[in-house]
Amino acid sequence: MPIQLFNTLKRIKEDFVPIDPERVRMYVCGPTVYDFAHIGNARPVVAFDILYRLLRETYGVDHVIYARNITDVDDKIIARAAESGEKIGDLTQRTELAFLDDMGSLGAMVPDIQPRATEHIAGMVTMIADLIKSGHAYVAEDHVLFNVSSYDDYGHLSGRNRDEMIAGARVEIAPYKQDPADFVLWKPSAEDQPGWDSPWGRGRPGWHIECSAMSEKHLGRTFDIHGGGQDLIFPHHENEVAQSTCAHGGETFVNYWLHNGYVMVEGEKMSKSLGNFYTVHDLLDEFPGEAIRLALLKTHYRKPLDFTKGGLQNAKMDLDKLYRALKETPAQSSAPSNKVMEALKDDLNTPLAMTYMFELAQGGGARDQLLASGKLLGILQHDPEDWFKGKASGDDGGLSDTDIDDLIEKRKQARVDKDFALSDSLRDELQNQGIILEDGAQGTTWRRS
Ligand SMILES: [Zn+2]
Repeated sequence: MPIQLFNTLKRIKEDFVPIDPERVRMYVCGPTVYDFAHIGNARPVVAFDILYRLLRETYGVDHVIYARNITDVDDKIIARAAESGEKIGDLTQRTELAFLDDMGSLGAMVPDIQPRATEHIAGMVTMIADLIKSGHAYVAEDHVLFNVSSYDDYGHLSGRNRDEMIAGARVEIAPYKQDPADFVLWKPSAEDQPGWDSPWGRGRPGWHIECSAMSEKHLGRTFDIHGGGQDLIFPHHENEVAQSTCAHGGETFVNYWLHNGYVMVEGEKMSKSLGNFYTVHDLLDEFPGEAIRLALLKTHYRKPLDFTKGGLQNAKMDLDKLYRALKETPAQSSAPSNKVMEALKDDLNTPLAMTYMFELAQGGGARDQLLASGKLLGILQHDPEDWFKGKASGDDGGLSDTDIDDLIEKRKQARVDKDFALSDSLRDELQNQGIILEDGAQGTTWRRS
């Protein structure tokens, strides 16, 4: 079965046919680096990581190029730095590292290319100049704007008509616009704002042009897959299509547009005032990264997801089951399960893939198949012993492994001495600390509950 993907451009699920199977190219909009990533930011990262893994499995690891940008010049960054007094460069660098660290904890592979906007300004200036030359952009009051009415297909990707676009909350009305739907390609920078020299004065790029210029530089004028959150379809992706297509004389920009669904948290829209604003950084203090990853994967990527702490606990228990199976069953085959592969090829059906994972775990005797399939899903990447000892979730400040081994040794001696009261009280003490003992033929093993 070929890989099938739901293409937002056509609103159908269709066979994925790459332009060049030797060089399959995917671009996903990356973070604007001014604050810790929240769980809504993590969803596209994990969803497109599954696609990246599937493409590598299908076309070979050397035949897939995944680019995800870093937006390190943006008004939100400028505002945050002004607020806190931190230097912009320090803020963006620190946030970029934290992002990579957090996404790594969620088992997301590092993309092949992570272009930073500030390192691609020249390409953006060239593209803007080309758009002006071809009549698709104009200069007004030190700004350069894209002329939406110059592109007949504007609105095709998002399926919006003109009125809906103008009513869209993100369309900014400004006096220098010829048309309210026109959007900024370049804007002037004040003395204390980051800026670059350009034919239109010292300024900085708009957000949309960043992705058009960086994807062209690294993936070419036409490439296979562009991904991002559903909230980016309009205006961001609509504008990327307009800019790239017009700058390239009408050449197709992207063949497959993929979008993940919205994230709710505890049944509501995530917001700091509701106290349900979950950063990945904070969640990692409480849960192993794989549990957070699985909680995201248990809902199909295109469906809305209600992310809850209860769901996270369930995901943790699911992983316990799978790791227990890994611990108990002997190694046999070494290929990922066909059923798991087929589920992923069907528009990344991760919930179905997980059903098959549990079948595998129950079947027994397929340890390597479970492991290989887990690798495709980016889970079960820890040693089962470490997982149950809680090492996968970092230091929780409780009993250390040595403390636990000590107490277990004491309990063993108490049992040899037939001091069952002491032995029982030691067991209780461990249990109170969340340590579960399992007495078996080979002695006592333990895990954190
Ligand atoms: Zn983008």
